Formats: sequence, C-alpha cells, structure tokens
Amino acid sequence: MPNREQVGATALVVAAGVGARAGFDVPKQFALLAGRSLLGHTLDALSRSSDIGRILVVIDENERPRYDAAVRNVSKLASPVFGGATRQDSVLNGLRALAADHPPLVMIHDAARPFVTQDLIERLVGAARRSGAAVPVLPIVDTIKRLDGDRSIATVERNGLAVVQTPQVFSLDTILRAHEDAADSGITGLTDDAAALERLGIAVTAVEGDLGNVKLTTAADFQRAEARLQPNVEVRVGQGFDVHAFAEGGDLVLCGVPLPFEKGLVGHSDADVALHALTDAILGALAEGDIGAHFPPTDPTWKDARSNRFLEDAVRRIDARKGRLVHCDLTLICEAPKITPHRDAMRRRVAEICGISPERVSIKATTSERLGFTGRGEGIAAMACATVELARRNDERR
Ligand code: MG
Repeated sequence: MPNREQVGATALVVAAGVGARAGFDVPKQFALLAGRSLLGHTLDALSRSSDIGRILVVIDENERPRYDAAVRNVSKLASPVFGGATRQDSVLNGLRALAADHPPLVMIHDAARPFVTQDLIERLVGAARRSGAAVPVLPIVDTIKRLDGDRSIATVERNGLAVVQTPQVFSLDTILRAHEDAADSGITGLTDDAAALERLGIAVTAVEGDLGNVKLTTAADFQRAEARLQPNVEVRVGQGFDVHAFAEGGDLVLCGVPLPFEKGLVGHSDADVALHALTDAILGALAEGDIGAHFPPTDPTWKDARSNRFLEDAVRRIDARKGRLVHCDLTLICEAPKITPHRDAMRRRVAEICGISPERVSIKATTSERLGFTGRGEGIAAMACATVELARRNDERR
C-alpha cells in the first residue's frame, strides 16, 4: 500500500450552493461552460494533479441526477455527501465523512473555481505538509474604500491586507476540530475555512495565489471563462480540383516528383496537376481565390514554372494568417502511370514543400474504370482536400 505522503491530499469540493447570482435556471456549478458543467471542469483540473489522491464532492441532496451527469469521466471520485444550509455546514459534513478514512491533508475547494492550476495545488500541498495549513493569497492592487450607502467615507489602509482564494489545504485533524468548535460555539457564516482556524489562534501559511484562479459568480464571469476555454483557432477545409491533358513526350511531374512515363502533361507551368489541386484546396480553405487568379496562365512569369512555387505561396498565405496546414488529402485519377510505387516519394515531397510531416499528407490513386477522358488515357485529374487551422479573429464570436 502506498503511504499517505505519496497518496497526497484528499480534495473536498463544495458544490451544494444555489449560485443564484449567475442567473441560470440550474445551480451555477451545473451550468454549462464550453459544453461541460462548471463542476466537471473544476473536478477535471483537480483529478489531473498527482498531489490529489481522492475527491469528495458535497452536493445538495436534490441535485444527485445533475451531479451524476456532471461527473461522468471524472476519476478519483468518492461517493458524494450531502451539504447543509450554509457553506460552513456543507464543509463540516464533508470533513466528517472524510474522518473515517483519515487522510492526513484535505484540500477544500469551491466548485466555482475551474481554473485551479497544477502549480498552485503543488505549492499549497507542499506548504501544508510543512505547516499544517496553507491558503493562496493575492495582493490588493486597487485602493479600498469604506462606503456609507453610495458615499465613500474612508480609505482603508491596504498594507497588510490580501485577497484569499481556494483551494485551501489543511491537516484534516486540525480543520475538522476547528469546524466542530465553530459549530459548537454557534458561529455561522464563515466564508472560508482558514477563518475557523484563525478564531482558535492557529496560524495559517499564506502562499502566493494565482490571478487566473478566478471564482465564477456572474453571467459575465461565465462569458469570460467560456472565451478562455474555447480553443482560439478555427478549423477550415478547402477543396481543389484540376485536370491536365497528356501529350506525347514531355516530362511528367506529379506531386513534385518526376515520373518515368512515355507521356507528359501539358500546361503553361510544369502541369503538376496534383500540386495545382492542392494549391487550390489551400486557397479554398483561406477563401483567397484560386490558383488562376494568383498565377494567371497568361503571365509569362509562370511559363514552365515548377508548381512547388504555387503551393509554397499558398502555404505562406496560411502563415500570414497565423494558421497551420493540419492535413492534406490528394486523389489522383488516371489509368496510368501506376501511382503506388511512387506514393512515399510523393508524400515526402509534398510534406517538404508544405513544411509539415509526411504523416499529415495522404496520397491516393484510382482509375475511372476506363470511362471518360481519364479512362481513355487522355489526361490526369486530381482532387485535393486541405484542412487548415486559423487563429480565430477577436472581432467575431463565431
Ligand atoms: Mg492546372
């Protein structure tokens, strides 16, 4: 059996409140954030920490179905316990449930802080192992005023003041005793758990907190959190199609690879039908016109040009938009030459031109069953798809 030090802290997550200020028709911890409940995000962040061995959630007993839906795919979970009338009561119920197991350290965390980081957890658990109690604090940077209604009547000296977050990590024995004592003394409305120790004169270590570890309270907090969780990229798929005719003699170049064949393809450039289709696919994903618009066949500059230049230009356009080419898929349609013996060389060459790994390049070949111009061996057709990721523009929501 691993010893307790190795197992780490047990997380106690308080999720029994109603969270009415966010204005949802479900308690805010069950509201969806980027397709997943707020509670699910928070538990996921905790479960990834090697400093946390087990997670116990305190819920309202009427919310069991929503809880079950929220925790699907979350590891390290114990069966939930039910909360009380206040946050303080809920924590005490959770601590009592943990007492039977007797973990050395308990990390008490609010369900409404989904951005808790692995670094912060590590700092807090480390400090609590040494001192028995640790909380994350942030300096106050704004000026603090005392108000009387809507009138500011005094400035509060902010020296020596700090903002305190969760998670807070404690020796289980100490925090359980402190909460029992507060309850026995009729103390209600403690807004954090360190307060239960402070009233007994027990020192709590202040550890550097994390500005990003925000608590979601209002609908605006949810909107900002959603923007943080959404990947800042969009995925686009473009398609391209091209045909070139065979002529006796001449060179055949496909996917940038010269092939031994009795016929070559005719075109203004080197007539690499595959690279033309792929160039158009990328331009399509970018919605930046087509190869003919950028490299007109009437322009003598492109006479006999090697087509890798067209493809390189398209890839540079992706770079200019802070994007990347994720994948391309080419289909060559011809009766001859046989493509398969050259497939690997083609994949390597396309990958090289595009600056991506060959495993992101697919090259396929088919015949048209002797039907049509490709079937009669009059030319080659190529189809391409390009998948491109682009940075999402800040001025658009979708
Ligand atoms: Mg062409």
